[in-house]
Amino acid sequence: MNFESAYAQAVNEIRKKLDARTSANESEIQKLYDSSQQYRDIVNALSKTGTELGLAAFSGDTEAFDSLQKKAEKLNDAKKAILTASGINPLAYDCDVCKDTGYNNGRLCDCVKRRAVEIMMNNAAGLGVDGSCTFDNFNLDFYPESADNGISARKRMTSIFNYALEYADSFSEQTSENLLFIGNTGLGKTHLSLAIYNSLIKKGFNVSYKTAFNLFSAIENEHFNERKNDTYEECLNVDLLIIDDLGTEFVSPFVKSVLYNIINSRLLSKKPTIINANISLKEIETTYTPRVSSRIFGNYTVKMFLGKDIRQLKKISE
Ligand SMILES: [Zn+2]
Repeated sequence: MNFESAYAQAVNEIRKKLDARTSANESEIQKLYDSSQQYRDIVNALSKTGTELGLAAFSGDTEAFDSLQKKAEKLNDAKKAILTASGINPLAYDCDVCKDTGYNNGRLCDCVKRRAVEIMMNNAAGLGVDGSCTFDNFNLDFYPESADNGISARKRMTSIFNYALEYADSFSEQTSENLLFIGNTGLGKTHLSLAIYNSLIKKGFNVSYKTAFNLFSAIENEHFNERKNDTYEECLNVDLLIIDDLGTEFVSPFVKSVLYNIINSRLLSKKPTIINANISLKEIETTYTPRVSSRIFGNYTVKMFLGKDIRQLKKISE
């Protein structure tokens, strides 16, 4: 699911709602629908025009948009005329700004944007992306204050937390840094990257969050079953790509080259990426090839997560 389809769906829903509430009496409308071919044609044409309007608004094609909107107005007038002639009167609107058309002065109304964000969030939840992970409920008390090997986990994690917060606040799809979150599982990498994800989705950025396992399976599946490369394309094009849980599981040569291509293409187009790894850069090199690790090493800001695990503390070189 990307924003384009979320907007199209939002516009369509709103227009369907408008259709449904054009009259107080739905059964009367249904009767009209059943008995009048002309009315059915208009309703179907309106629904189609609604979807086309959403796509035109999203792509910024103002010429197509204007002509579609004129078409929609005409269809609405024709519909109203039939309804009035049949003695069916309109109800109050959900959104007074756009009168439930989804558009206000040729622009998508805020009610559509709100709905599109909701659709994106629901869709993310359906994919197992947790909307409840936010900056507000990231608990720094979990990290020990005391310094071990000279490094306080609390201090380090507070600094990473503030960095992530600032990253989300000032995010730009062209200038934000690439991040590598490194550390054992259970140290908050997923929570913090989901907090970034949720904050950016709310601001209308096109963000994709995927676990490495799901990402690689989806791309392999599309490739070997000759499906459209939707997942791969999405990974290249989103404003921010978050790959969670990169580990040492066995990966095929195909996956290694896919990961390299995603990382490299995003670097070339200056689109930021966040990778969470349960393994060190050295292990990334041995698992995913030196060219993957060298692209990451040269172009990503590394944040080493700390916690109670002493093995991690020993690895710190910073
Ligand atoms: Zn509205």
